[in-house]
Amino acid sequence: MSRDPLPQPDQSLCSDYRQLVVEIDLAVSQLIDKRFVNLLHCRPGCTSCCTAFRVLPLEAALLRRAMPDREAIQAMVGDDRCRLLFEERCLVYEQRPIICRTQGLPNAYIDETAGKIEVSACPLNFAEDYQLVHEDLLFLDRFNSRLAELNRRYCRSAGIDPQLRLPINLVAPSR
Ligand code: SF4
Repeated sequence: MSRDPLPQPDQSLCSDYRQLVVEIDLAVSQLIDKRFVNLLHCRPGCTSCCTAFRVLPLEAALLRRAMPDREAIQAMVGDDRCRLLFEERCLVYEQRPIICRTQGLPNAYIDETAGKIEVSACPLNFAEDYQLVHEDLLFLDRFNSRLAELNRRYCRSAGIDPQLRLPINLVAPSR
């Protein structure tokens, strides 16, 4: 029997990942409550950030197990959109990857080499002339470094290169 290239992460990893997700979801909801009540256009049916991005092997393994049956995936979407969209809704919303959980907010990353903060914000929520201030930013480095460490643990045990990034549309079953 051939070896599963993306084996199920062990319980301790799953639980540490869930804890990270809880903390990210909390940081997102706190920031929205403090700074952006009634400002964000994010709502069910808005899928402009649902592009076919890449995920870490750990998230690919978790996502694969959250996939609905192949028959449920019928939406006709282009190659540049996530295949997990069905009738403009996410089929794995509760288990969506971390990158999907912070979209819409002003995501901030510290570029130590350049000595500056890089910000990426949804143009539907923040027009070009919107003046973002420090308190508006969701700093993601602390979360991303924890995710990278969980991914290293997973990759060590599964014998996978931790640098690998898998296109989400390869993880999703094809239609
Ligand atoms: S996993 Fe869900 S939330 Fe993330 S891009 Fe795909 S459809 Fe959108």
